[in-house]
Amino acid sequence: MKTAERLHRIKPSPSTAAAQRVRELKSQGLTILDLTVGEPDFDTPDHVKAAAIRAIEAGETKYTPVNGTSTLRAAIAGKLRERHGLEFTDGRITVGGGAKQVIFLALMATLDEGDEVIVPAPYWVSYPDMVRANDGTPVIVDCPESDGFKLTPERLAAAVTERTRWIVLNTPGNPTGSAYTTGELRALARVLLAHPHVGVLTDEIYDEIWYGDQDAPSLAAVEPRLADRVFLTNGVSKTYAMTGWRIGYGVGPADLVTAINTLQSQTSSCPSSVSQAAAAAALTGPQDFVQDTVRVYRARRDETAKLVNDVPQLSCTIPDGGFYLLVNCRAAIGKFTPAGTRIENDEDFALHLLDSQQVAVIHGTAYGAPGYFRISFATSTDVLTEACERIATACAALT
Ligand code: PLP
Repeated sequence: MKTAERLHRIKPSPSTAAAQRVRELKSQGLTILDLTVGEPDFDTPDHVKAAAIRAIEAGETKYTPVNGTSTLRAAIAGKLRERHGLEFTDGRITVGGGAKQVIFLALMATLDEGDEVIVPAPYWVSYPDMVRANDGTPVIVDCPESDGFKLTPERLAAAVTERTRWIVLNTPGNPTGSAYTTGELRALARVLLAHPHVGVLTDEIYDEIWYGDQDAPSLAAVEPRLADRVFLTNGVSKTYAMTGWRIGYGVGPADLVTAINTLQSQTSSCPSSVSQAAAAAALTGPQDFVQDTVRVYRARRDETAKLVNDVPQLSCTIPDGGFYLLVNCRAAIGKFTPAGTRIENDEDFALHLLDSQQVAVIHGTAYGAPGYFRISFATSTDVLTEACERIATACAALT
């Protein structure tokens, strides 16, 4: 079947591709230590599952409003009020099949051919391809480790053109774990206030997997003058270990939300009714699951970062949030494996880890971060410890 031109501009998500490769190797009988996973290794909390079962039994198994049930929209409004002091009326909230779908529809609703979207790198793999799939042009702005992998006001100002439609701000970020401070958001906001044609798509999916003393700040709350230009996206996948339930949301300008709802009405009609009941229970129910899992993630983060930083060729900064480490492996590039193969780049390095030690990671170039690789610590401490030992062995074997 002939496929559309827009499909040729994009590729399958590398994390999905890596997961597929791990499954293949496992099916060949190999034991792979898998550090590629982009989802919590915990089960969805019981009270959330119970809410879904109750919804099924109560017959909540039909189409819901296009923009989600009023119960879930109220729960989302409640979270944003409580956490950030933000007030969103009902017409400014939409619910979709994961934050991924909400972001995709926001881009579909707003981009015309040639419109530019500023994507700070390292970036979540999907942003550039989502922009391309919707006829836009991603403008990648490198944010080096020396800047904490964060966009500076100077780099932002230099990247804005008349065609800039959006800037994507993922905080805390995947794959870096870096988060913008209130001061940093204010500085970016000052630049944005001077460019009223630029919208800001914030992706705050890791906001609760957060290791700071105070809540991760949100741009919409930090600079209310941007309120009619910020589209804030989030969801329940990461915070509540609900990746398979597929519920995410976006809040922002009413006209954008209406446009997204129109697109949703012609694509999925609405998100899953049962999953929406579960998501509402997650947002409004007890939050000890979040505190407990963050405590576990924090211990894993500290332990894994220490083990990584003990390996002479590797280094990583400690992330503020999320469950990833972005590891600098530049010192290993240019070296040779025992088989005599030269490690040309981060992809070769990741392949060396997989082939020689059966440790699966994702190479940094997939995230616009050449010279790095991503470790997910959403897996057990035993796996992480063993994997780090094997990574050290793989590095020691390089000459
Ligand atoms: N945004 C970022 C930065 C992510 O890492 C992910 C998942 O990997 C998503 C969005 C997608 O979340 P959802 O499961 O809600 O579609």
